[in-house]
Amino acid sequence: MDDLKQIIRDIPDFPKKGIVFKDITTLLSDAKSFQRMVDLLAHRYVGEKIDQIVGIEARGFILGAALAYKLGTGITLVRKPGKLPFQTRSISYELEYGTDTLEIHEDAFKKGDRIILADDLLATGGTMAAVVKLVEKFGVEIYECAFMAELEFLNGRSKLPDAKVYSLLKF
Ligand code: AMP
Repeated sequence: MDDLKQIIRDIPDFPKKGIVFKDITTLLSDAKSFQRMVDLLAHRYVGEKIDQIVGIEARGFILGAALAYKLGTGITLVRKPGKLPFQTRSISYELEYGTDTLEIHEDAFKKGDRIILADDLLATGGTMAAVVKLVEKFGVEIYECAFMAELEFLNGRSKLPDAKVYSLLKF
């Protein structure tokens, strides 16, 4: 797993001073690393009855689509406002400065669907906590929140007390 961690590039002071940005594009563009990352994550869920993967805009779409393909499920998109064409349900959540909103189609799930929520990286957990709240109202079962990587020192898991959380690469 260390080789996968090492291929993720650190970009200091992006997008603003004091943040060390984990640039996963170096992992995605390396064929062997990308394949291994997807295989390792998908392996966790093989044999489980999963109905749908939820991918969170935008980097969550990459992992979400790859997982859905491997597991033979569909992928449902959680997107920024105004991008989804059909009727939507939305949720707003607090950021460091201001608020953000995410949307999902109102016919995204059937009651009781077992789903996995996928994103690239767990930082403060604010985004995933909002998505958990958004999908819970559909009466689905969240099997797990799955991430390629996690910044453990930010303790994002504390914002997800009721969900199972798994990340492949821990920093
Ligand atoms: P959060 O809501 O704080 O867990 O982070 C939400 C999203 O912001 C994650 O899905 C990442 O795509 C992105 N993000 C936050 N912090 C970082 C970081 N240090 N490096 C790379 N991406 C980050």
